[in-house]
Amino acid sequence: MLYETNETAMKLEAEGKRIVKLNIGDPDEPTSPQIIDTALKAMKSGRTKYSSASGEKRLREKLAAIHGVPPDNVIVTTGSKWGAFSTMFLLLKPGDNIVLPSPHWSAYELIARNLGAETRHLRTRLCENWRIDTEKLQLLIDQRTRLLVLNNPNNPNSKVIDERTISEMTQISDDKGIKVLADEVYSDISFVKTKSILDFCASNILIKSFSKTFAMTGWRIGYAIAEKPLIERMTKLNQITLTSVPAFIQDAALTALELKDEIAEKSRQKYQKRADLACDLLTRTNMKFSKPDAPFYLFPKREGLDSERFALDMLHRGVAITPGTAFGDYKEHFRIALTAPDNDIRQGLNTICEALE
Ligand code: PMP
Repeated sequence: MLYETNETAMKLEAEGKRIVKLNIGDPDEPTSPQIIDTALKAMKSGRTKYSSASGEKRLREKLAAIHGVPPDNVIVTTGSKWGAFSTMFLLLKPGDNIVLPSPHWSAYELIARNLGAETRHLRTRLCENWRIDTEKLQLLIDQRTRLLVLNNPNNPNSKVIDERTISEMTQISDDKGIKVLADEVYSDISFVKTKSILDFCASNILIKSFSKTFAMTGWRIGYAIAEKPLIERMTKLNQITLTSVPAFIQDAALTALELKDEIAEKSRQKYQKRADLACDLLTRTNMKFSKPDAPFYLFPKREGLDSERFALDMLHRGVAITPGTAFGDYKEHFRIALTAPDNDIRQGLNTICEALE
């Protein structure tokens, strides 16, 4: 549903209809001119050839230093989605399963299912402030469980998992001999401080992205950190698939990292304002929602709502949102992405609120 809604929104736009797009986590701001300049200079200086399948040495070293791991434990990927895909491709066999707290970003489930694996949802609920019940987690894990997927901060509910819960979850997965795949693509712009999975256990897998922090969604660059043998297998997979992330994009990513503090702080401030604005508008309705710990998304609930029908209705009123069913069994929820200009957010939310009056 996540991808279908977006395709329909783009189709309506192509037909000339104005759509306020609150449906996708694609920041509205442009990529920083300094990052673009680096890419242009790199292209002009000939950085347009095949590159290393594991990533450019300088970028891997920089990322390794940031995360306090050896460069051999880092691989540069085409967005974090490829990090998620290649991890699952290499670790899952048909009949295996993954466990993931729900609501969850759809891609984990779609990737696992495409590989013949099953997904087991550890359901969390708004009325329990999205608390993860680690006792329930124990019950979901069995002999065929290969991965626990943790998305922190979470898409779609923008919740940060507290340190104690992460610690309990990593302990459980350690005891059961399964790995954690931690997706922390929103952590650098989180409103609330987050703990990285690498602070708990080095044998886990971390995926990160340049997309969200640096408004570089279309550049397709991210990275994964894992133990060396898995990184080597991921490198081999890159060799027979995408070959490498283009060198000029990796050069631009290095510039992005140099500007990280400045860009991340600006982004945080901007999204905090937008989140405040959206929460203020939603408070006036009879929808229930939790205040976001991180930027980009709100995941309100309206009792009795059929969110797929509602999303379709909203699209015809010129506002794209994502139904809750795209993230698991959340029919009464829908996701609003705050990645549009302030005026669009105001207009979109007013239309949503009117429709639900
Ligand atoms: N993880 C999460 C939780 C996401 O929401 C997204 C994008 N919506 C991604 C990963 C993928 O990001 P990218 O491939 O652009 O790095």
